[in-house]
Amino acid sequence: MAESEMQPAKGTVLVVDDEDTVRDIIARKLQSEGYDCVVATSGKQAVETAARQHFDLVLTDVKMPGMSGIEVLSQIATEHPDTGVVMITAVSDTQTAVEAMRLGAYDYVTKPFDLQALSMRVEKALEKRRLLQENKDYKLLLAEQALQESQQQYSALVENLADAVLVFQAAITWCNDKVEEVFGYTQDELMGKDASFLFSGSTNLSKFIEAVHDATREQKHFRGTNRVEKKDGSIVDIEFSISRIQEKDPPEFVAVARDITERRRMEEALRESEEKFRDLFENANDLIQSVDGNGRFAYVNRKWLETLGYTHEEVKELTLTDILREDQIPHCMENFKRVSQGESVSEMQSVFVSKNGLEIHVEGNVSPRMKDGELVETRGIFRDITERKEIERMKTEFTSNVSHELRTPLQSIMGFTKLILRGKVPVPEPHGEFLSIIDKQSEHLSTLINSLLDVSRIESGQFSIQKKPMSLKDMVHDVAQELSSLAQEKGIVIVEAISKTLPQVEADEKRLKQVMVNLLSNAVKFSNDGGEITVKAKVNDHALLVQVTDRGIGIPAEAIPHLFERFYQVDGSATRISAGTGLGLYICGQIVEAHGGRIWAESKPGEGSTFSFTVPLAINPAESNLQ
Ligand code: ADP
Repeated sequence: MAESEMQPAKGTVLVVDDEDTVRDIIARKLQSEGYDCVVATSGKQAVETAARQHFDLVLTDVKMPGMSGIEVLSQIATEHPDTGVVMITAVSDTQTAVEAMRLGAYDYVTKPFDLQALSMRVEKALEKRRLLQENKDYKLLLAEQALQESQQQYSALVENLADAVLVFQAAITWCNDKVEEVFGYTQDELMGKDASFLFSGSTNLSKFIEAVHDATREQKHFRGTNRVEKKDGSIVDIEFSISRIQEKDPPEFVAVARDITERRRMEEALRESEEKFRDLFENANDLIQSVDGNGRFAYVNRKWLETLGYTHEEVKELTLTDILREDQIPHCMENFKRVSQGESVSEMQSVFVSKNGLEIHVEGNVSPRMKDGELVETRGIFRDITERKEIERMKTEFTSNVSHELRTPLQSIMGFTKLILRGKVPVPEPHGEFLSIIDKQSEHLSTLINSLLDVSRIESGQFSIQKKPMSLKDMVHDVAQELSSLAQEKGIVIVEAISKTLPQVEADEKRLKQVMVNLLSNAVKFSNDGGEITVKAKVNDHALLVQVTDRGIGIPAEAIPHLFERFYQVDGSATRISAGTGLGLYICGQIVEAHGGRIWAESKPGEGSTFSFTVPLAINPAESNLQ
């Protein structure tokens, strides 16, 4: 083999055949072609030889006693995948050849063969092996490169993560440098530290660890938050995402940890501020609503619900037009359109209608909430001005009534005075008659002006009473007597039922008399001709109780709660039968209240009314006995 020593062989080939001649011819031919050739006489020997020495190619006969060529092929393919195998088969045995190719043989040569053709097949097989090898190396190289790149990407990712990443079994085996930010410990300090440190703030450590194991067992992530004590002793909220690295036993985990203390704090602050504002809205005394672009209510506050009488559930079904009085819809929808386009509307007035049909006058502002130029919702804050509107209406009515009331007696006084001054009194008419008319009208005018003065004193807080011991019994009787002539004009009788044993009270006699006059003259005023009025006075429950009962026109039930309000008149129209200003009962109420008593009315329309008031006894009789 001098040739092969001088230059490298074209390849190493193991020739396996039980027929000596065939085997030797082949070996010699291949050697002469520059191959390094070894021979084996059986399959068994071939396998043993291949175990000792590496071959580029095995050229084996299929049919051999003992171990067959197919068995040699499969052994070589598993044990020496780098070694190519070419089979030598009989022409008739193509079946085996196909099977051999399936098992990984490079090629097959059929007997009898031409030696030149055989050497070409060997050359081709070795070429194929070389190409395969190259391809394999190339693939390996590519794979290695990809691995390297992905490793680089991975470590860049881990290093650039804002979160801390830790790998641990029982102890921490690896971590990135972000651990210092999150836990206050350096990478070096954490390496080898017991992993339970990560769950140190957990109230139930074993349960937490169990949860991690449970979640990660089925390759799921564990996600949870936990409190951890940092190196400086401060406690931080950490959000963990933990997964298990599958192949390891005992299990190895990788944890991504993020400090969410600040986020938690902000969430809490946001929640608190939301609660604060919600509370503010909920307890506001104004009606607050937000309405979406379709006119549906997105939010209404408690006052809104209370005023309009709807539940939260019912509001969901409503649209803006459902709560507007019919005549308000056009201008409100016009405003809604303007607000939807980004405008604000202030001091708008409207009338809402409650679930049970009550009209509610409101005044307020509506503004849009826009996002990226699009309407999110319109926000309205309204004040219930129903009462104010009613007072405004009553004031207007009052002004016109008062003017009328003042003008009538004044015209009469002026007229008669002028007649007397000009000496134009008709002959049989004595001055006295005219003068008494002037006197009566002046009296009326003075009462009216006094009432107005009283109201202005009450309103400005300057109204006071002067208490002195007085006899209510005498006062009530006197008033009844004084008004009896007025009553008689209408054929009305005043019946007195005054207890004889009424004790004295500490009170403002003038003011209580004013109350009594007002109640009794109202009783006369609102009684039909020929009726009867009863005046009662007695001690009742540590107070003196005075009651005036008439059988007059009565008062409708819905008017009763308003009787003692200023300017209130049951029939407020200018065409009403009786004159008046609606101030009398208001002043009576204020006087009785200033005495610590109570005033109220009971009535049935068409049957009559009873007005009652109490004046507390200065000293409780039971107590005075004890003294
Ligand atoms: P006015 O000056 O209008 O009488 P008041 O305050 O004294 O003012 O009374 C208010 C209203 O209460 C009256 O306008 C009347 O409608 C009603 N009213 C008062 N007393 C009686 C009564 N005895 N019977 C029926 N209605 C009454």
